[in-house]
Amino acid sequence: MSKFHMTGHNDGDDDSVSRSSVFMAEYPVILPDLNDMDITSFDFPYLDELLSYAHARWLQQCSGLEWISALDTAVFTPMGTRVEPGQADEELQLLIKQVLESGKLQLSAPDSRCCAAALPVLSRHHGEIFAVLVFTSRAGGTLPEPELLETTALHFRSCFYQQFECQLLPTALKKRNSSDREAKLRSTMFQIARNMHDKIDVDAVLDEVFCSIENLFSNVRLTLFLSHDHRSSNPRVKQLLLRQGEDNICLRAFIKGALVASWNLDEENSGQAADRTVIEFGIPLRGKQGIYGVFLMELPVNYKYPEQEELDLITMLADTAGTAFENAKLLEQSNMLNHELRLINVLAQRLNRSLRLNDIFTFAVQELINVFSAEHCCIVQLNEEKNCFEVMGCTLEHGKGSMFPVNYGFSSILYTTGEPIILADYMERAPTISVFMEDTLSRSLMGVPLTINGKVKGAILLTHREPHYFSYENYKLLQMFTPHIGIAIMNASLHAQVKQLANTDMVTGLHNRRYLNAKIMDYQKKDVCGSLILLDIDHFKKINDTYGHLKGDSVLEHVSRVIRAAVRERDICARWGGEEIAVYMPAAGIQQAVQYAELIRTRVSAEIEPAVTVSCGIAAWSREDEDISIENLFNKADMALYRAKARGRNRVVTE
Ligand code: GH3
Ligand code: MG
Ligand code: MG
Repeated sequence: MSKFHMTGHNDGDDDSVSRSSVFMAEYPVILPDLNDMDITSFDFPYLDELLSYAHARWLQQCSGLEWISALDTAVFTPMGTRVEPGQADEELQLLIKQVLESGKLQLSAPDSRCCAAALPVLSRHHGEIFAVLVFTSRAGGTLPEPELLETTALHFRSCFYQQFECQLLPTALKKRNSSDREAKLRSTMFQIARNMHDKIDVDAVLDEVFCSIENLFSNVRLTLFLSHDHRSSNPRVKQLLLRQGEDNICLRAFIKGALVASWNLDEENSGQAADRTVIEFGIPLRGKQGIYGVFLMELPVNYKYPEQEELDLITMLADTAGTAFENAKLLEQSNMLNHELRLINVLAQRLNRSLRLNDIFTFAVQELINVFSAEHCCIVQLNEEKNCFEVMGCTLEHGKGSMFPVNYGFSSILYTTGEPIILADYMERAPTISVFMEDTLSRSLMGVPLTINGKVKGAILLTHREPHYFSYENYKLLQMFTPHIGIAIMNASLHAQVKQLANTDMVTGLHNRRYLNAKIMDYQKKDVCGSLILLDIDHFKKINDTYGHLKGDSVLEHVSRVIRAAVRERDICARWGGEEIAVYMPAAGIQQAVQYAELIRTRVSAEIEPAVTVSCGIAAWSREDEDISIENLFNKADMALYRAKARGRNRVVTE
């Protein structure tokens, strides 16, 4: 039998036979599968061609056997029709019918015109008669022994099955090849999926996708267009511009959410050959929650169009990438959120550590620069008294403390709109002119209004020389930061106000006695001398009695203003009690104090309506004094004041 399998085929007339034999040698493992296969009675109506080929093959293999050459042979189907052209006569028809009924060799009657033998050919597994082989002797010839005929019938059967297997083989091989390939692709796919899901950051996932697709499909050009803002180190990751035309393949794949193919003429080489077409695929990067972008896969010129299973694989790969990308993105977002919350927490804590406004601005500038890796920062606050912006904190040393009009620059836009700004490139498109941007040579800007107690009271600006520097995430985070800065500023301002109120006298607007005492103590620590003027309004009772207490208050306030204006900036004026006012003059000698006291006295008597006068008692201290206590200083000044009163008021008396 083996002789027939491997060698006895016909080289010339049947191409599939010779090709299959090569494969048989290469893949012997396929044969047991084929041996298991058989025809059944359902196949009988379709066997003509196979039987005819088997007959030819058999005759060829029997070409050296003389006894066969001396006979005529014919093959009949189980339906009794002849496979080769030509009809059987009635006698032969009957013989075949007998074979089909009996399942045994039948010989023609000895008295018949011709001498014929018909024998069944049985299927290899089920033993069904699928053909009848007929031998007819030519005029006067004889038939060989029945055993020889039966052996020959077995040979015919073998030729039939050889033909049968040869026809099945290409299909079986194709099936096996594709299932082999599919298995290989699946295992690659599995590997890729695992690699991808092992990656926890977005860029690593994207790199893995590029790597995998390139390994599977060499020479293709792959670009990923992401629909949202993502800063990638990979140059093949680009932004998907949604404003592109509907004919853009990536946009079509993005909208459709499925693979889209297109055939383009190779533009670079157009005109050289008519059939230089480039096939492109747009493959969406899909996750569970949406589509994140589109892979553009460009095949080289005249590349074979991929098989469906390859396209399925690419889609599967893109979907795996989509899920991995989504997971990595979600992780990145939650890490980012975590990080942001921590930053906000730290910022809020540090801001609250100090109640000094200056510290807060300095700290906020530093912190914003660090968090956003910005180059410059500027915090401006509205100065309501002067109706202008004041630079409270700034990376430019000369900028600090400067003032500019409320209708100038980005601060003005933030102040009037109350909306944050992100500017990609100041050089390309700027809604306003800004000295800050120009002094710092900045091109990128993020700006947020500084809101205090629900009202816009200033602005925070962050800049960088590089265009398109700040991301949308940065912008959102800055917006989360600002309320904390606003609260810290408000707290510090309130604290400063409370402190000032606590040291201020409500009627006169001067400092109070506690503050004065504390200040004198401070000065006594560093100065070598100082003077104290104690003033008392003369006959003040009369003012009250004549004009009432309210008027009395306003006169007291007016006298305080005159005193404040008459003395030096650094002198401390405080309400000592009732209508008595004390002025401490740091580092001033008694003569200097007398001059200022005289100035006050004359101005009060000249400027106030209804006319009032003041009496002044002056005392001084110096390092040489035995007792430089505040009590002593006040006692001495008080005694001098008493003498001034006694000597007729409206005068200055020293200790
Ligand atoms: P003298 O020249 O001796 O100082 O006469 P005088 O009337 O000023 O006498 P004295 O200093 O003893 O009286 C102080 C008066 O000033 C008593 C009080 O009614 C009035 N006075 C004290 N503090 C205030 C204040 O805050 N507002 C008003 N309207 N009156 C005050
Ligand atoms: Mg008085
Ligand atoms: Mg008094």
